[in-house]
Amino acid sequence: MDPQPRVAVVGAGIVGLCTAYALVERGVPVRVYEQGVPGNGQSGGQGRIFRHAHVDPRLVADAQDSRAIYTEWGQRLGVELVSGDGALAIGPAVEAHLPRLRRAGVPARRVGAAELAELLPPLAGFDGPAMLDERGGSIRTAVAVRVLSEALGERLVADEVLTVRPTDAGDVEVRSGGRTDRYERVVVCAGRGTAGLARDLGLSLPIRHGAHVRLTFAVRDGPAPNLATLQDSSGDFGETGAYASAIPGNTAYGVGLSESCVAREDGSLLDPPALADLADRTVDYVRKALPGLAPEPFEVRHCRVTELPWGSDGIAVWEREGVLFPAGHNLYKQAPGLGRKLAAAADGGELPQALRPEAELGAA
Ligand SMILES: Cc1cc2nc3c(=O)[nH]c(=O)nc-3n(C[C@H](O)[C@H](O)[C@H](O)COP(=O)(O)OP(=O)(O)OC[C@H]3O[C@@H](n4cnc5c(N)ncnc54)[C@H](O)[C@@H]3O)c2cc1C
Repeated sequence: MDPQPRVAVVGAGIVGLCTAYALVERGVPVRVYEQGVPGNGQSGGQGRIFRHAHVDPRLVADAQDSRAIYTEWGQRLGVELVSGDGALAIGPAVEAHLPRLRRAGVPARRVGAAELAELLPPLAGFDGPAMLDERGGSIRTAVAVRVLSEALGERLVADEVLTVRPTDAGDVEVRSGGRTDRYERVVVCAGRGTAGLARDLGLSLPIRHGAHVRLTFAVRDGPAPNLATLQDSSGDFGETGAYASAIPGNTAYGVGLSESCVAREDGSLLDPPALADLADRTVDYVRKALPGLAPEPFEVRHCRVTELPWGSDGIAVWEREGVLFPAGHNLYKQAPGLGRKLAAAADGGELPQALRPEAELGAA
């Protein structure tokens, strides 16, 4: 067992798990509080897209960093954390992404209709702009949550944090359901709970809340030899923002639309039927775009989402009196690199300037 933990991490979603694991790498004793099941909040489900394509070149560089860490951790922990099947983008967004990726040294190239069919057999015929990000792929989300949780072992405790409060002695008190402890630093990675805990320190984070739906469809002819992830901005199949990733074994594909349903801060949806509408549109999209999938989903994943006002890939970290509050969206791919930066800051280092809110990292 570690000696008395110096740092607390609140939340065992992918961001908290990566931060805590990075602290362990640095030899920093850490305790992680999780009020529910690790990885069952926004990080739930079987897959996410790992892509390098971002509008903000700083995020392209961060994604390269995280991709390398996923490989390093996967090798150390004996699992595959990102598939080798690549990330495909189709539609007009390709024209802007390709030069940006090439400038950053990311292996990405145009692909034609024949190769598209090999990379993503369920896809309907498409002869518009298409690009393969060779080092992209499907993040093995459930595997990542399992192996990181196992690596943390008894450092991970089942408890809800009620308040995080700097003390006059210069440390930080964490009051949870079953204990009160003090730490040098605290990193709050509580997903939709982050804004509430930040308010204890007088911070009002500009987090937009929403809800999202992703449906999983079986691959019709059994496991696909290759199942690249998909981002479709084409509109050819009725939607200009659709995305998909594979589950391990390539027997099924999780598909969603980029749109979310807007929620109030208390979690209630502004327009509850809109979630069902998103699901119906996703089924409709699959029938047109992905005829190689079964037409009905066998699994549904509803998730809360949190976004920053400057873009759907926006990330920032607020810092006050020894407490760090990361927030943003599409964080799965960025979590290992973000986790190492948060760990360094919690271990007495400086938070990189690019992560401070005024830098608007990931601005669209
Ligand atoms: C359907 C869907 C598709 C997505 N697709 C992609 C994608 O393709 N690529 C990508 O990179 N990202 C994607 N994302 C976004 C990505 O999944 C999230 O950004 C990421 O999972 C957020 O992780 P997190 O650790 O910040 O939050 P969470 O996973 O929500 O973790 C927060 C944890 O904190 C715990 N917690 C909260 N309050 C407390 C408290 N007071 N005390 C103790 N514990 C607490 C919660 O129980 C939870 O486990 C997608 C998200 C959704 C919903």
